[in-house]
Amino acid sequence: MLISIVISFTLFVWISTLSGKLWNKGYDLNALNSISQEVLSAIEQQSTYDKNEVQPILDQFHINHPALRFEWISSDGSTLYDTYGEMNNYSFQQLADRFINMPNNLWDEDNPITLAYSANKNGQPYYLLLSLSSDAMKQGQMYFFVRTLKALYSWALPLLLSFFVPYFLSLWLFSSVNRRIGRLNQALNQVNIRSDVIVLEDKAKDEIGQLTRHYNLMAQRIRRQADEIDQFDSGRKLLLSNLSHDLRTPLTMILGYAETIYTGTYNDENELRTSSKVILQRSRYMDKLLDQLLEIARLDGESLEIHLAPHNLSEMMRKIAADYMLFLDGQSFSIEVDIPDGDVQAVIDVSLVERAIRNLMDNAVRYGKEGRFLGIGLVEEYDVVCITVKDKGRGIAPEDHKLIFERFYRVDRGRKGEGLGIGLSIVKEIVESHQGYIQLMSTPHVETLFLIRLPKHLK
Ligand code: ADP
Repeated sequence: MLISIVISFTLFVWISTLSGKLWNKGYDLNALNSISQEVLSAIEQQSTYDKNEVQPILDQFHINHPALRFEWISSDGSTLYDTYGEMNNYSFQQLADRFINMPNNLWDEDNPITLAYSANKNGQPYYLLLSLSSDAMKQGQMYFFVRTLKALYSWALPLLLSFFVPYFLSLWLFSSVNRRIGRLNQALNQVNIRSDVIVLEDKAKDEIGQLTRHYNLMAQRIRRQADEIDQFDSGRKLLLSNLSHDLRTPLTMILGYAETIYTGTYNDENELRTSSKVILQRSRYMDKLLDQLLEIARLDGESLEIHLAPHNLSEMMRKIAADYMLFLDGQSFSIEVDIPDGDVQAVIDVSLVERAIRNLMDNAVRYGKEGRFLGIGLVEEYDVVCITVKDKGRGIAPEDHKLIFERFYRVDRGRKGEGLGIGLSIVKEIVESHQGYIQLMSTPHVETLFLIRLPKHLK
């Protein structure tokens, strides 16, 4: 620290002296003193100090320094020679007036600066007056003058303060910057998708503060993505285990019944028909599973492609209701259809919306069959349409309401053969691609209702 103080002080003195020499033109007191000494020593070499001897010396110096006026004065105040050509007989008052405001004249542009030097010949005193305008002086001059050591006491405190305060300030600044960068570095070193996020507090608005905030965002993003990867991974594992079970069970049945038919070991025509029906049902179920799988693989690669056109929604829904009535005929299901008789026009991708409604109806029949009830409804509002699908079965617990729309999520994970947990995620994706939303309200064994709201026209 001391070394840096000494170096900075030396540098300051050295650079300001050098720049003073280069750019700070003009005379300083040292220069004037040395010129006067040169003049006096030249005069001292003369045999007499008369005008004739002194004049060429003073003229020569005046040529070399035109800004300086040289006057050679005898002890009674009369001018022996003046390079300005004036002849004066100075009284004491006149002489005193010329020195009266020294050294303030250095800063006063109107009054000239006058310096006096003396010489002696044969006991007779002579005086050299050297004067110049304050303009001819240097613009700046640096003095460091210590007459007694006592002066250092009054200088010590300001000197120490002027050097140590900036030093300690910069030391504090650097160490705080260092500490903050160190913390950031450490946190960055520990970023890992498996470990917890280290959140750093730094409210400063400077670059390091910004960097810290970016780090926080980045670490949180990595954490989120790691969670998504984990979720995706567990979903994938779940899918594989469900899939192998859901495909094997119907396949075993199909193989068993197909073998019975092939070997002709059935008892009568009735048994043959039942076997074929089971094969057909199980094959359809497998076909549906494979369809869903294909759908999900397609959705993974790109977002849903929709082809919009105006359609009569009430007509489409009446057709779906009729299908389910036929399908549930004889199964003691009560069916409620609440669809307006008139046209309800909406700009939709009709095949996608139909698929979404059928998915909800299938779920209501499959998971809500205990309620023996299926409801389908359509209400037209100002610029939206509301589609409802209802059942009165086992319902869905409130904690599952959000999760149910996630891919591969099934409420009862233990129950095999109940689908892959894909249907509702596809329904949600279809609804959102139409800028609509889906809502679930469920009171077990009272009513489970899925409500889809779609705008009639996409913005
Ligand atoms: P899946 O393709 O397995 O049917 P979904 O995404 O359609 O998957 O449904 C997810 C889960 O939501 C189902 O496993 C089921 O437990 C539950 N679920 C869906 N609809 C209903 C409903 N109407 N009543 C009760 N549970 C339902």
